[in-house]
Amino acid sequence: MVATNRISRLGFVNAYLVREDEGLTVIDTGMPGMAKPILARAEEAGAPIVRILLTHAHGDHVGSLDKLKAELPDAEVIISARDARLLDKDKTLDPGEPQDKLRGSYPGTKTKPNRLIGAGDKVGSLEAFAAPGHTPGMLAFLDSRDGTLYCADAYSTLGGVATSAKPNPRFPLPALATWHRPTALESARSLLALRPKALAPGHGKVVENPTEAMQRAIDKASNQGDR
Ligand SMILES: [Zn+2]
Repeated sequence: MVATNRISRLGFVNAYLVREDEGLTVIDTGMPGMAKPILARAEEAGAPIVRILLTHAHGDHVGSLDKLKAELPDAEVIISARDARLLDKDKTLDPGEPQDKLRGSYPGTKTKPNRLIGAGDKVGSLEAFAAPGHTPGMLAFLDSRDGTLYCADAYSTLGGVATSAKPNPRFPLPALATWHRPTALESARSLLALRPKALAPGHGKVVENPTEAMQRAIDKASNQGDR
């Protein structure tokens, strides 16, 4: 059941549909060109999309937001308050943040979010957890009903479970697009502490019973000094 809600482009970039009583929540919108497959999957599921929840503002996660919103004018658009600034192409850093260069693509969107959230907030059955590092305001979402952790790019599973704190030679993109790797490693640790039953990443397949693999990924990233 967990794996069937994943919509993937070339097996590489994911969006997810999460069912609620009132309709579907889309988590992330993928690259440009993914609006159609997302809408088709919702149609198959036989429920309306009522909200679009973004884990972070990178182009491969918000790339179909404008297209999707054009088809779903009533859907609520939700992102962290911090990454909402990046969605608006404001790349300034806060004084308390690491002053490292933001990496990866931030194309921005025409669509403005309706709701800004942070750690501890609930979106339907999903609880938001802070997962900064890859971007300053990335959020992960735990579905309390089945223990699935939508971990965004805190972990990827393409080419094996890896954090974004160290490039996985088989799929280095998430680490190369990461703003601050030590913070990303801390986030990977705090997400492991949630003991998820399944890991649903932005890139790669859903992995069931992922905690051992998550621990190995953290160990790998920790053995490299602090950067
Ligand atoms: Zn990303």
